[in-house]
Amino acid sequence: MQTALADFIRDTPEGREADAILRKCVHCGFCTATCPTYLLLGDENDGPRGRIYLMKQALEGHEITDKTRLHLDRCLTCRACETTCPSGVQYGRLLDIGRKLVEEKTTRPAEESVKRRVLAEVLPRRFLFAPLLRLGRLARPFLPPALAEKVPASVRAAGKWPAPRHARKMLALAGCVQPSISPDINAAAARVLDRIGISLVEARGAGCCGALRFHLNYQERGLGDMRALIDRWWPHIEAGAEALVMTASGCGVTVKEYGHLLRHDPRYAEKAARISAMTRDICEVVEAESPLLEPLFVKKGGRIAFHPPCTLQHGQNIKGVTERLLARAGCELTAVPDAHLCCGSAGTYSILQPELAGRLKANKLAALASGEPEQIATANIGCLAHLQSGTSLPVKHWIVALEERLN
Ligand code: SF4
Ligand code: SF4
Repeated sequence: MQTALADFIRDTPEGREADAILRKCVHCGFCTATCPTYLLLGDENDGPRGRIYLMKQALEGHEITDKTRLHLDRCLTCRACETTCPSGVQYGRLLDIGRKLVEEKTTRPAEESVKRRVLAEVLPRRFLFAPLLRLGRLARPFLPPALAEKVPASVRAAGKWPAPRHARKMLALAGCVQPSISPDINAAAARVLDRIGISLVEARGAGCCGALRFHLNYQERGLGDMRALIDRWWPHIEAGAEALVMTASGCGVTVKEYGHLLRHDPRYAEKAARISAMTRDICEVVEAESPLLEPLFVKKGGRIAFHPPCTLQHGQNIKGVTERLLARAGCELTAVPDAHLCCGSAGTYSILQPELAGRLKANKLAALASGEPEQIATANIGCLAHLQSGTSLPVKHWIVALEERLN
């Protein structure tokens, strides 16, 4: 595609990156076939090709309207379009640049701005989110249904975290909302790795990976969260931690991009690149060690439907690994149609775009239930909480399901 970026952005790092991405797009439209919002709404501007065109116009200096922002807001950032595109268009990177520009050039209605601000202030701060969640659970019976469904009815106990005893050490990211909603996930990961000779530890004070604020378009604050996390992790890396283990694929995709996001920061570029290179999703770590783990499985079966989060299958391009591990542990994986489509969780999307998110959740739950599983497993806390709010089937992280099959 030919481009003529406006003077205000052409010679900036963002302008150069956006230009290179736009030029790769041949406007073929293959990506529209796998875009969840296009499939729901049938509007070209709610598909990747249309959104790319809207961002191109914005970058070329045309008028940016509330309608431009609406179509970008409706994008899930699921990146299904990226894994479909035959030309290698990095839609996610273009969207970061496009959204920042559109945010700067338009004004949101006050109610929308307040909502986004509250999410950006509360969710990344565990000391605010945890008591609010506890309060929400107490008040759940009295909340309006739309709000009540956002509050998990119960929280699975974490269980014991094994004391570090192995020479091999890896760092886990505690994250922001995960320890309050599902503290069992990292504890289960620590116990599984402990069985195969790896001690998993969490760095004190290490919280949000920065994705939350970054994707709410507080990009500078998101980058600040990333720098703060690097500072917390760095002493552990210098002390010999061999990998950074992500149990939330949404955080994983972001930390794997730290090197890119902080590449122009002279103080952090090198550290960020090293951290991205050391980052592994928990399924990558377990798969690498699976010969040690396999003799420990009691193959007791059980039908599981696995939902691969977009941040795992499209963002990190990890496909089939978790499914293989669950199958080796004796689980019977049920067939799930349209597994490439987003469940509608998408970070704060389910709160900001409840109507679309609700339709995507209903479609996803119907697909997951179609093989009559006994439980649903996934790999990201957002998907887990979103899906659990719409089904009576237990929805858990796959590492928790895997641990249940260890002797
Ligand atoms: S993003 Fe890729 S698939 Fe979509 S229109 Fe452009 S070249 Fe085609
Ligand atoms: S990221 Fe997902 S929702 Fe957004 S344009 Fe691509 S496929 Fe569609």
